[in-house]
Amino acid sequence: MSDCIFCKIANGEIDSKLIYEDETVAAFRDLNPQVPEHILIVPKKHVAKITDFTEEDKNLAAHIFVDVVHEIAKKIGVDENGFRLVVNTGEDGGQTVPHLHVHLLGGRKMTWPPG
Ligand code: 5GP
Ligand code: ZN
Repeated sequence: MSDCIFCKIANGEIDSKLIYEDETVAAFRDLNPQVPEHILIVPKKHVAKITDFTEEDKNLAAHIFVDVVHEIAKKIGVDENGFRLVVNTGEDGGQTVPHLHVHLLGGRKMTWPPG
């Protein structure tokens, strides 16, 4: 989508340091980190929210959660101590950027419940 900030970052239209990239997925550091390690993982194609994933996106969704999360967690050194994944969805979910993104949060002990 032409005016989507995460499309532009993921596809290199905005020059950002990607922490991970393959054909279908990109990941980069959050502009306003909430924890020491705050990464955003996004599909390169524009998907507004997780409930917009379709049957044909099952491989992409699995790829993110099976492969990409683990690879990034190892890369930033949080795979041993643990981390949190968050997918804010829609208004009540607190989603502010309408391009599906998985927050990978780590580097300190988390609390629960979230706000
Ligand atoms: P949401 O609230 O939609 O789950 O998360 C959006 C996240 O994107 C926020 O944590 C916010 O700091 C981050 N963000 C918003 N704009 C940009 C940007 O231009 N670059 C980066 N790296 N992160 C952004
Ligand atoms: Zn987009």
